[in-house]
Amino acid sequence: MASKFADMLIDLLLKKGVKEIEPKLDYDYGVSYYESLGISRDDFPNLNDILIELERKGILKGTKVGTIPTCPNCGSHKLILRLLCPICDSPNIRRVEAIHHISCNFTAPSDMFSSGEILRCPNCGKPLRAIGVDYNKYQNVIYCENCKRVSISPKLIFICSDCGESMSEGELDLKPLLRYEVIEERLLKPSLERAISEGLERRGVEVKHPSEAIGASGLTQRFSLSVKGGDSERFIDIVESSEGVGEEKVLALFGKLFDISAKGGVLVAIPRATQEAKTLAKSLNIEI
Ligand SMILES: [Zn+2]
Ligand SMILES: [Zn+2]
Ligand SMILES: [Zn+2]
Repeated sequence: MASKFADMLIDLLLKKGVKEIEPKLDYDYGVSYYESLGISRDDFPNLNDILIELERKGILKGTKVGTIPTCPNCGSHKLILRLLCPICDSPNIRRVEAIHHISCNFTAPSDMFSSGEILRCPNCGKPLRAIGVDYNKYQNVIYCENCKRVSISPKLIFICSDCGESMSEGELDLKPLLRYEVIEERLLKPSLERAISEGLERRGVEVKHPSEAIGASGLTQRFSLSVKGGDSERFIDIVESSEGVGEEKVLALFGKLFDISAKGGVLVAIPRATQEAKTLAKSLNIEI
């Protein structure tokens, strides 16, 4: 049974003629589809769950367009990045320009080489001559205040702000980020089923939606809906096919009706039934 919010969303997709639902990365919720749909969290508190429900029903088709890194321990996407010295793991680092003195193989921040007008190596005491000859310069490298060593890049550590776990980049879970495509012909059916059953109910007809009955075969036969009038019950199937609903749907309904010994039934075809289906239905006492 569709949830109330799923029904509301189906109506909204139909009304707005939505074709695609785009994801947006969101600090609070990880991924948000509210912006794409132009709706608010108050109207649809669990939108992500509703979208998953509609995808399961084939009304939406999800395509992976990216990933959201999440905590492998609790699933949270609220990760705080920390940069550490890759040699001693100290967080006490800074970004510097560094000089590598080739002759004595010493590397340190450039400001430690300054000595008046000239550059002098603080390790061996020799003056530096020319870049590329006896020394090299590196931009944006990491200097550790703790172990006094220079590294090309820091070690990345992620701390989960929900459970406190810390992890390396390689330990993060990568959740798929989905864009949803609306399958229009699938969208029509549930809203039509609802509209028909609500319309009938308003006229005081007793409607079951969905409806099922146990047949002579012992199988449970399922129908989109059924209406009760007096002591007889009429079974209605709603089927959709972009090429036109064909004879096989008429036969399927007939088979089910026969099994439960119903007098006749109604097939609602979206957007229409083929001529062959109509002819067959007539001979089987099925209304289209
Ligand atoms: Zn966590
Ligand atoms: Zn030196
Ligand atoms: Zn260090």
